[in-house]
Amino acid sequence: MASRNQRTIRKETSAEGVGFLTGADVSLRFLPAPENHGVVFQRVDLNGQPCVPAAHDFLVPRQRRTGISGNGATIELVEHVMSALAGLQVDNCLIEINAPETPGFDGSCKAVVDALLIADFEEQSATKPQLRVPKPLHVTAEDGSMIDARPFGREGQTITYLLDYGPNSPIPAQSYTVNVTPETFVNEICFARTFILDSEIASLKALGYGPRTTAKDLLVFTADGVLDNELKAADECARHKILDCIGDFALTGCDVQGYFNAWRTGHQTNHELMRQLQDASAAEDLETQVA
Ligand SMILES: [Zn+2]
Repeated sequence: MASRNQRTIRKETSAEGVGFLTGADVSLRFLPAPENHGVVFQRVDLNGQPCVPAAHDFLVPRQRRTGISGNGATIELVEHVMSALAGLQVDNCLIEINAPETPGFDGSCKAVVDALLIADFEEQSATKPQLRVPKPLHVTAEDGSMIDARPFGREGQTITYLLDYGPNSPIPAQSYTVNVTPETFVNEICFARTFILDSEIASLKALGYGPRTTAKDLLVFTADGVLDNELKAADECARHKILDCIGDFALTGCDVQGYFNAWRTGHQTNHELMRQLQDASAAEDLETQVA
C-alpha cells in the first residue's frame, strides 16, 4: 500500500437488507463525495437528516460491534460497511441510511463490495493520509485477548489473526494472514461471515436482538458444527475477524501501515490499538520536528 491518491465511487449505488439488531428493513445509498470528505453516514429517516462521520471521535462504547454517534444520530454495526469501503480503497463516500443500523446481509460485506464494484471508482487528486506504526505497540484486553502492531520493513498492511477459543469450543482453532490489497480483500476476505455460538443466542434474543435473523443469515456454531449453513473456507472465522480489523482500522481515516498480529481480539481492542497508534505517530512527528 504505497502512497496513493484518494478515491471515491464513480456513480451512486445501493444495497438493502435486514438489520441484525432491530430487524428493520435497511437501505444504504452510497454517493460519490469530494476529496478529504471521508466516509460519512447520513440518517435520512430522522428529522434534519443528521450526518455522522465514520471516525474515531464519533465512536461509542459497544459490546462486540462498532457504533458511531453524533449530531443526534447513531448508527450501529458500521464495521462491515467500513471494511468494504477500506478494502476497496474508497476513501470519500456519503452513505444515506434509513435505520439505526446497517443491514446484516449474510454476515459478511460481500453485498457492499458487489455494489461498490458496480459503481466503479474515480481517482481524486488529494493524497490519502498514511498512519505508519513507528514502534511496537500492544493492547491486552481484560479477557486476555490481545493485538499488537509492529513497524513493517515494506509498504502495506499485513494482518495475522489467530483465533483460539480453547479445546472445548465448537469453533476450531484457526489462523489466517493477509497482506491487504483490493485484490486480496475481494478474493480472500470480503465473503467471510460473522459467527456466534448457539449458546449465546438465547440471551441476545432476550434483549430483543435479531427478531428476523436466522441461522441462515450468519454462522451459528453448535457442538455438532455449523447450523443450517456451510463454511465457505475452513478458516472463515479468522478471515472474518480480519474483515473486522480492516473496518475498525479505517475509522482512523488513514491507510494504516504495519504488521498486525491479533489473538482473539474484538472491536474494543482494535480501537484502543488505533488510539495508541495515533498517539505514537503524533509523538514521533513532534520528535522529528524538534530534531
Ligand atoms: Zn464482524
